Amino acid sequence: DVRHGPILYLEGVSVSFDGFKAINNLNLTIDDGELRCIIGPNGAGKTTMMDIITGKTTPDEGSVWFGSRHNLLTMNEPEIATLGIGRKFQKPTVFEALTVFENLELSMAADKRVLPSLRSRLAGEHYDRIDEVLAIIGLKALETRQAGILSHGQKQWLEIGMLLMQKPRLLLVDEPVAGMTEQEMERTAELLTGLAGKQSVVVVEHDMGFVRSIARNVTVLHQGSVLAEGSMDQVSADPEVIKVYLGE
Ligand code: ADP
Repeated sequence: DVRHGPILYLEGVSVSFDGFKAINNLNLTIDDGELRCIIGPNGAGKTTMMDIITGKTTPDEGSVWFGSRHNLLTMNEPEIATLGIGRKFQKPTVFEALTVFENLELSMAADKRVLPSLRSRLAGEHYDRIDEVLAIIGLKALETRQAGILSHGQKQWLEIGMLLMQKPRLLLVDEPVAGMTEQEMERTAELLTGLAGKQSVVVVEHDMGFVRSIARNVTVLHQGSVLAEGSMDQVSADPEVIKVYLGE
């Protein structure tokens, strides 16, 4: 079992924008190797929560820990990224004029932990990693194709692959299946569930069918706090959650 307790720990976190509490006494624990889905209505604070974890937004109150050693509130955004926290935004941002392979190669070179002088010596090991990642994202057959010709789904997988090049310990993924076909969604479910165990994955997603298909653990955010936590069956039967989603 790869689980060794929490990898991410938020306690009593609050942040206000112009007096409005976007995050209000938020408590959240993500275990090592866990796949967690975060759901909640628009304005619930999902994006702000991700911004806090990556250091883009600094909370007014509370604590945020990565593992047991890293107090994220003492670190800036680039420092937090080097701990192995990768974030995928909704819109894919691959380099369209480069090949699939070159996109992965470039993300490897962008790893600030690899000093330029060491890059050539480490190259062999890194090229093995590109092959591993191509297999994980299922794009081996397209490695020499230009990223610009890929389907929307394939671009999303490539971008996940670019993040995987640096072997993140925690991957934050924002609405991965928006705009995908049914088949692409199934493939994305396989990809994300396959990643869990090797790294922790936190997915913010609106598509409830997709959430149900991938997550054992779901957190419902509402007004900046956790409203419910549990399996999709548990949270979707929760009267408070039903109230929020029916807009009562
Ligand atoms: P979600 O991602 O769940 O839709 P957000 O985290 O984007 O929710 O937003 C939570 C609340 O905080 C919303 O009411 C939003 O308008 C507000 N908010 C988020 N970011 C800012 C900001 N930079 N300035 C002012 N208000 C913000």
